[in-house]
Amino acid sequence: MNKVFWTTWFTEEACPAWPCPSCHAGSLALKPATFTQTATKESFADQEEQWWGPENVVYSFTAWAACKNCSEEFALSGIGGVEQVPDDAHSSAYVDFYQIRHCHPTLELISLPAKCPNLVREALAAAFALYWLDRPSSAGRIRVALERLLDHFGIASKAETGKFISLDKRIDVFSQSDTANGPKLMALKWLGNVGAHTIDVQANDLLAAFEVFEHVLSEVIDKKSDSIAKLAAELTAKYKHG
Ligand SMILES: [Zn+2]
Repeated sequence: MNKVFWTTWFTEEACPAWPCPSCHAGSLALKPATFTQTATKESFADQEEQWWGPENVVYSFTAWAACKNCSEEFALSGIGGVEQVPDDAHSSAYVDFYQIRHCHPTLELISLPAKCPNLVREALAAAFALYWLDRPSSAGRIRVALERLLDHFGIASKAETGKFISLDKRIDVFSQSDTANGPKLMALKWLGNVGAHTIDVQANDLLAAFEVFEHVLSEVIDKKSDSIAKLAAELTAKYKHG
């Protein structure tokens, strides 16, 4: 994962070279002459005040991007602002910067194994879309993806009495068959908890969680899925009768 892609603000000349979620081979570039922006009325409301400066401007923007490899087109929209940056003449200039809040088709922040279970993929797609809009909700979707990953490995979510088994307990069962990846899943669970109870989750923490998920998926789906599923089923059976 290139974290710069997912945190940087860009100018209307060029968006980050986001990886294309359609062909998984190319990267995106803004389509020429599609970028439009306008400042919000609210951000100009106090422009007569002495303290007001261009840093107070808030933009709305829309644009189109396309994959340089497969030509898939992407509808972008988001917000912008103005920052003072040094220029070549040892002075400074005001530059407009933008960040997306929505992109369709949805950009994928991590690469998913071809055999990634569909229900996990769906939950992660929601987490990717929410990353730009509402990070605590995005963290919550990562937690859902985690529950679905455990479902995929046949780790019971309900006891025979019908009572729900806690996510902690389910991760414990998983960890008994995979001591390397189990603790990583527990770390994702903590972030999901925080997401459910706070109004903000740091972008870096969320990106770290995506990175951990990417690593775990490549380990457990690509390399070890068969043996883990077998062990997990044995352990789950043991646990359910314990
Ligand atoms: Zn493409």
